[in-house]
Amino acid sequence: MESRIDASHSGDAGGPGRPSSPFSNRSVDDPRGPPAPPVSPAPSNLRGGRRIEVERVTQELPSPIGPVGAGESPEESGGPLAGPLAAAPGVTTATLAGARTPEDGPPTLLYIVGHHKSGSTFLGAVLAEDPEIYFAGELYRFPRPIWVPGDPHRLCSCGASVLSCPFWSGVRSDFEQHHRLEELRDGQRRFDRLRGLPGLLLQEGSPPAPLARYVRSMEDLAGILARRSGRRLIVEASFSAARARVYHLADPARLRVKYLHLVRDGRAFLWSEMRVKEPPEDGSWWLRLPPFVVARWVAMNLLALTLCSLDRERYLRIRYEELVTSPRATIERIGRFLGRDLSQVAAKVEERAPIPLRHVAAGNWRRGEGSVVLRPDFGWETGLSARSRALFWLASGWLATLLGYSRRRRRSTTGPAARGPR
Ligand SMILES: [Zn+2]
Repeated sequence: MESRIDASHSGDAGGPGRPSSPFSNRSVDDPRGPPAPPVSPAPSNLRGGRRIEVERVTQELPSPIGPVGAGESPEESGGPLAGPLAAAPGVTTATLAGARTPEDGPPTLLYIVGHHKSGSTFLGAVLAEDPEIYFAGELYRFPRPIWVPGDPHRLCSCGASVLSCPFWSGVRSDFEQHHRLEELRDGQRRFDRLRGLPGLLLQEGSPPAPLARYVRSMEDLAGILARRSGRRLIVEASFSAARARVYHLADPARLRVKYLHLVRDGRAFLWSEMRVKEPPEDGSWWLRLPPFVVARWVAMNLLALTLCSLDRERYLRIRYEELVTSPRATIERIGRFLGRDLSQVAAKVEERAPIPLRHVAAGNWRRGEGSVVLRPDFGWETGLSARSRALFWLASGWLATLLGYSRRRRRSTTGPAARGPR
């Protein structure tokens, strides 16, 4: 059985670039030259002057991504994006250098919550086929280990080392103009983890200074990604419900946040984890023992449900199985949630066309390959032992049923339990 969602090398490198964003004043391909830095109106004093600071950052940002001038194509610029992958649709300097205008309002962050190995890299790449969406991948890996200490062998999906990729180098440069990388790291240590949750949940009124600083740095990083990509909707796949809760504190005048709860059958997660030979990055080998895998699946989905689903307008739940067996209906439902028409994107997925990964530096795909393609993966149905399946259902069948799964057979992808709140 053909059975994976994973990456395969794109055969469409060299295709035409995207038109510039309709939210941009002009692209670098415009004969009038590259977009001017946006000029903000007189700032309103929101939340103790936070708005003032972000607009000052906007005005002081250097010209994005290299010295591409009037009428100069990315290839003519001779910049690092001039290779074959750079010519893939959407990976042109023009797209990356789009400028936001003040009337655009704040960017939106779509935060994918749930658990790893649920198809989020594929989904993010698919959504980024829309000209207003950029998929940033697992942002929790910034700054460590990607920027600090920095691994020269870790590749961005554009083919360059992440440390030398012009997109991520520009993002880092912009970020470090007003923040220290350690702010992100300190915040992750203190607030992104389970032990930080009680403090977050009991939080009332103005957050304490360290938490406020962390939220500000996350807002700014998302804003920089929006400006650098020229896209107003950023998709992040970091999964952690605690981190999702930190985003809950973001100032909506600076960053709107929505939550997409992506669920995959826990038996597929168990089967996948049981086949991995390497220990997790933090060396906690016991996390891959079946009881802990099941416990992680339960905990991460339960936390996502309880922490992110309260605001029904900002929460959508979909299942991996719906995405790969009914891609059009599922992608269009996500489109309605985001206020975007994704029918063209859905058509491309249905055709099983390669979907390029545009400057994704942290995610689950085969390194060195610049695209993904739809390959439904139901290998666990034949690969996972009956004993493991029975144990999974005994321990977590109650939650699996709640999320739309059946003990014995694959449930209809359009059944009521498979639907999210919208
Ligand atoms: Zn890159």
